[in-house]
Amino acid sequence: MASRAVVVGVGTYADDSGIHGYPTIEASARAYGEALDRDPRWGTAARSPVLDREEVRTADGVMRALHEAAAAGEGPQDTLLVVYVGHGAYWQDVPGGQVHFALGSSRVNEPWTWLSAWYVYRAIRKSKAGLKVLIADCCYSSMLPHLGPESALPGILGTRYQGTCVLTAVGGNVHNAWAGACPNLPAPLDSCTTFSGHLLNVLAQGMPEHPDDLTLGALRAGIDESMQECGVHHTPRMLLNDASEAAPLFTNHAKGRRPRTRAPVTVDEWVRELLLNGERSLPDLMRVPDLAGRVVVRLKAGDEQSRELARRVDGRAGELLPDPVDFVRYWGEIEPAMLGGG
Ligand SMILES: [Zn+2]
Repeated sequence: MASRAVVVGVGTYADDSGIHGYPTIEASARAYGEALDRDPRWGTAARSPVLDREEVRTADGVMRALHEAAAAGEGPQDTLLVVYVGHGAYWQDVPGGQVHFALGSSRVNEPWTWLSAWYVYRAIRKSKAGLKVLIADCCYSSMLPHLGPESALPGILGTRYQGTCVLTAVGGNVHNAWAGACPNLPAPLDSCTTFSGHLLNVLAQGMPEHPDDLTLGALRAGIDESMQECGVHHTPRMLLNDASEAAPLFTNHAKGRRPRTRAPVTVDEWVRELLLNGERSLPDLMRVPDLAGRVVVRLKAGDEQSRELARRVDGRAGELLPDPVDFVRYWGEIEPAMLGGG
């Protein structure tokens, strides 16, 4: 196994930089390091994945560490995880329009002192690791594109086995991520940024109804539910490009797990199952074509992530419903909703 993680937390800036530092940023980076260290899937790395203050001061320091981690990925079993916590900005008037990540030496309104997401994407995409995941906890992370082949960022794309995924602190029209801490989280996570604190709390607590590994889908659902419970946060976003919701990323630390014994039955249960585990059990759903149609209609009415999932389910309907009678039952649920403007 050559899974590698790089955690870039930039919370300290020069006094004359015009950029406000937050202690929550460095606290979050340390907490990611501790979570990875505790996790048998990740805990074997020879060096800490958390870059030190000198490394995160310059693009050279970050990119050298990133290229080294990306080069360690050898094949399908490997994962490359890149975490960025800090300030993000978006400049339209640079080549292509890009999200930029702040570094220790960045200055406000001087894009050339920031690290363009283009360089970060380029390094991640070149890795031979089977699964490539970027977690971005910064403002304008909502503007980050897919990592995979349909990315708005052109460039070489390495071997993909399990695909790519981008998880961001904010999504939709919300561009500002909250660097302040969430007081509802247990210590020491109540000293992290809101999004990272909630994410790390899901890792620390685990999810009782899930198996030994926390998948991308489970992680997303866990963060969503935990942030919604607080009632004050913006919703994060996960762009699963060609990765499956069922791809495992972390170990599930929940005590006394009780795996679900009953297969999903209702539309609500199926929507949740698909959001958690992707299309793994899609053939079971397609055995009841009209129910499958209603599930797709529900997903199409949801957020960006749900609509993307609806497209993937719909894309496989033809192959999974070879009998025209079944396909008509499936499509009979979808067509009226589409005509109704849904
Ligand atoms: Zn909260």
